[in-house]
Amino acid sequence: MSRDPRHDVLFEPLQIGPKTLRNRFYAVPHCTGYGTEKPGSQAWFRAMKAEGGWAAVCTEYAPVSWDSDESPYVSARLWDDEDLANLAVMCERVHEHGALAGIELTHSGGHAINRQSRLPSVGPSQLASDYDPHLVPKAMELADIRRVREDWVRAATRSREAGFDIVYVYGGHSYLPLQFLSPFYNRRTDAYGGSFENRARFWLETIEAVREAVGDDCAIAVRTCVEALGPAGVDLDEGLEFVRAADHLVDLWDVNVGSIAEWSKDSGASRFFKEGYQLEWTGRVREATAKPIVGVARLTNPDRMAEIVSSGVWDLIGAARPSIADPFLPRKIEEGRYGEIRECIGINTCISKSETGHHLGCTQNATAGEEYRRGWHPELFEPAANADRDVLVVGAGPAGMECAIVLGKRGFRRVHLVDAEAEVGGHFRWVTQLPGLGEWARVVNWRRIQLDKLANVEVITGSRLQAKDVREYGAEIVVVAAGARWSSDGVNGVTHDPIPGADASQAHVLTPEQVMLEGKRPPGSRVVVFDGEGYFVAAGLAELLAGEGLDVELVTLHERVARVADESLEGPLLRQHLHDLGIRQRSGSFVAEIHEGGVRGHDEHGEQFELEADGVVIATQRLSNEELYLELAADEDALRAEQIEAVYRIGDCVAPRIPAEAIFDGHRLAREIDGEKPALALPAKRERLVLERARSHA
Ligand code: ADP
Repeated sequence: MSRDPRHDVLFEPLQIGPKTLRNRFYAVPHCTGYGTEKPGSQAWFRAMKAEGGWAAVCTEYAPVSWDSDESPYVSARLWDDEDLANLAVMCERVHEHGALAGIELTHSGGHAINRQSRLPSVGPSQLASDYDPHLVPKAMELADIRRVREDWVRAATRSREAGFDIVYVYGGHSYLPLQFLSPFYNRRTDAYGGSFENRARFWLETIEAVREAVGDDCAIAVRTCVEALGPAGVDLDEGLEFVRAADHLVDLWDVNVGSIAEWSKDSGASRFFKEGYQLEWTGRVREATAKPIVGVARLTNPDRMAEIVSSGVWDLIGAARPSIADPFLPRKIEEGRYGEIRECIGINTCISKSETGHHLGCTQNATAGEEYRRGWHPELFEPAANADRDVLVVGAGPAGMECAIVLGKRGFRRVHLVDAEAEVGGHFRWVTQLPGLGEWARVVNWRRIQLDKLANVEVITGSRLQAKDVREYGAEIVVVAAGARWSSDGVNGVTHDPIPGADASQAHVLTPEQVMLEGKRPPGSRVVVFDGEGYFVAAGLAELLAGEGLDVELVTLHERVARVADESLEGPLLRQHLHDLGIRQRSGSFVAEIHEGGVRGHDEHGEQFELEADGVVIATQRLSNEELYLELAADEDALRAEQIEAVYRIGDCVAPRIPAEAIFDGHRLAREIDGEKPALALPAKRERLVLERARSHA
């Protein structure tokens, strides 16, 4: 298969300052949780994108000064030579694969929490941070301005020494340079405040100083949010005015929208933003510059990419999330392997895992973040030592599908993936029917296509297997991926008991599956949705039912509705959306009893409440479908009699978790299934400082 000639334009090289990009695919800076703290993960993760064909690969934000210490978040840093040494590993590995390495030097100014350094944050004016209003910065004196500029130059010089080809003067997302530019942050009356010219001064002087220091050897990139989509930055007019003012100093414009507080509108989740959404604003940057432009918009469609580059709107297709979901996206387009592109689903698990968990992961790409610590490659699979066996995978949800694909690629003689339902996909068959979550179906679609390609894997649907059927199936290895179900009696994390009256066999009590798969609806128009989980299911059901004309109250025991979705940047937009749909949201509240006609409960302060309702949807917690596995595992003699060597379980059948973990679990078992104890994950490399003295005292 060869590529469509329309996509040739994506493979033309491009000059940026003193450097040449080999094609038009640019992996923009994004957080990982690795920073300079996990140099191995950093280097191996970024290098995988270089190997996959991206022309440039960047670090995440890398503060230049001690008073931009991002803790409790993890950033890269370039404060000293040890930071340099750690990041140099990334440069070496990225260069090995022919890509350029970029570093996003920055200072987050008044948003720097500085938990570790204990230094005050600094900003143009003493105004509480809109990102964290608990934080009040020092208003910078002229000496502070000079110092930060010098820090930036020092960090740029170290970046060049480390091997970086592209050096950023990053101000987007309302970091320090943009804080100076924006009247929302800048109330100064000196030469750095007031007129546009004065507000732009700090940023321009900094770019100029960095350019003077390293501009002959490195490309100078500026990343800016050209439209804040809120108060915390500049609007498009001033955004473009800044591009014009700084254009003579810049080799590459890296443009996006939003701010640190409105990050949700930059890394837009698919629930609210469609592919290409940023072009409305960043598509206008060309009006202000003839220099190369890179933009992002969760682009995965090669036709759309080619159109953007051909039309001259941008010169480069930038990507963070699509490059995580498929580091080999450029190479797959180049070679015309379109059906293999693992498209980003816009669920933003990468963000929640890197920001909150300090280690990036991905729903679509189970190997993301595992390149160094587990040695996994997204496209390469070792032949299994026990590949001469047949494997039966019971359950074709996300975990079972992933497991079967990896087993197939590892060369097992025969892999049978069997599911009770007529369609593969497991709980994703209905989750993707919740309002706004349609793009998540890419999880199932991509896997279905790959399974079709594997001659040694057979998918059998419409067949529910009992323990006896499994034993007699004829496979030597059995993997149970039977998933999980929502509790039908309201067992929950508050009382650890069922909720009195929560009986889903009655007409007025409903589980999520009953609503989505059986079409069950409450006997009247008033419904309470009770949420114990705090993520997407209860909120999605509330929206669905409200869309059908029901009067919905969403009660959650969390401090706010869909709290977990805050980590994926969906929470605030989702709560606003539910509010706009007329759904009442009652947080910090527990439904303690359900009866025909309503519920009784109490709030976090112990105040009692009663709600009238014709029906109650209970989304308190899920329970693993572990019966089949336990029955099989309990009778070793029966397994032996049928020459079954091993029975494993994976995914939600082990413990109900987010989709990314179910898929990871299926992938992991298949990668390690020829090890000594495949049921237990092999230890992964940990990156931490080990003191020699501490060792000798141990
Ligand atoms: P996960 O998220 O772990 O992949 P899911 O709940 O999405 O789990 O999928 C589990 C799948 O397993 C469902 O499609 C279900 O139909 C299937 N399944 C469960 N038990 C059996 C069984 N005994 N025989 C065949 N398929 C089963």
